[in-house]
Amino acid sequence: MRLLIYIILIFVVYQIYKAVRRELGRPEQVNRKKDDGAITAELVEDPVCHTYCPKNEALTAGMDGKSYYFCSEKCKQKFIEMHKGVCV
Ligand SMILES: [Zn+2]
Repeated sequence: MRLLIYIILIFVVYQIYKAVRRELGRPEQVNRKKDDGAITAELVEDPVCHTYCPKNEALTAGMDGKSYYFCSEKCKQKFIEMHKGVCV
C-alpha cells in the first residue's frame, strides 16, 4: 500500500515540476520579439564572476569604447578596480 502512496507522490511532484517549467518558459517566449530590435532576454556574461544575467537587468560600465555587463554593483566595482591601472 505504501508503494501506491509513493507513486502518487512522484506523480504530483512531476505535475508541479511541469507547471513550474511552463511558468519559467513563458517570459522567454514573450520577450522573443524581433520587431523591437534589441532582444530583451539576451544574456550577457559578467566578466568578473562569469555569471550570465539578462541584459536588461545587468549593470553596465563603459570601458575602452566597449560595454561591460555585471550581475551586481560589487562585480562592477571589482572590475573597475581591476582595470584602473590599465585604462586611462
Ligand atoms: Zn558578478
